[in-house]
Amino acid sequence: MKLLVVEDESKAGAYLRQGLNEAGFVVDLACDGIEGLHLALTEAYDLAVLDVMLPGADGWQVLQGIRKAGKDMPVLFLTARDHVDDRVKGLELGADDYLTKPFAFSELLARVRTLLRRGGKSKESDFLRIGDLELDLKRRRVTRAGRKIDLTAKEFALLELLLRRQGEVLPRSLIASQVWDMNFDSDTNVIEVAIRRLRAKIDDDYAAKLIHTVRGMGYVLEIVG
Ligand code: CA
Repeated sequence: MKLLVVEDESKAGAYLRQGLNEAGFVVDLACDGIEGLHLALTEAYDLAVLDVMLPGADGWQVLQGIRKAGKDMPVLFLTARDHVDDRVKGLELGADDYLTKPFAFSELLARVRTLLRRGGKSKESDFLRIGDLELDLKRRRVTRAGRKIDLTAKEFALLELLLRRQGEVLPRSLIASQVWDMNFDSDTNVIEVAIRRLRAKIDDDYAAKLIHTVRGMGYVLEIVG
């Protein structure tokens, strides 16, 4: 899943990006409101984290621009001021949640995950499934035939993407942009290696293989036969 973080304090921005990366998200970081709004309108994000006080355009203006363009991604506000007015204004403008600075990273991560589960138009289930494989979004757990499988954050993100788009052939470039970073070089064999590791964990011990390579095209998660 891909997130946009708009935060002008470089230390805070880097800290958020690193934490969210480690939790398995791809993060684009913008340092002012203009760049933030531009990215929000031109790239596809699953969620945006917006600081209120920003140079260029403030968080409210970025939020208004996002909603005006008809984008309904969940937006989490970071406000330095613990003013009820700010919260009300944010929620009126279409923010989905807010956090008052300073906050614990674990708190932010919990809010982000809740919003992502709630996000989109329909209420999404906490589970993604194919055959006897199950991914629990809430508890961050994967099982196959009832057996727990330990995945790294990247492997989890990769499997989540494959599950959400199951039956679809996903080109490497798409996998790179959704699971790795914006400027990730998709010519490297990082994706191949990650797919191989994921296969070893979810497919090797089972007769029915789920991950398939489509030569020259990419990868698809599906039940064959
Ligand atoms: Ca700020």
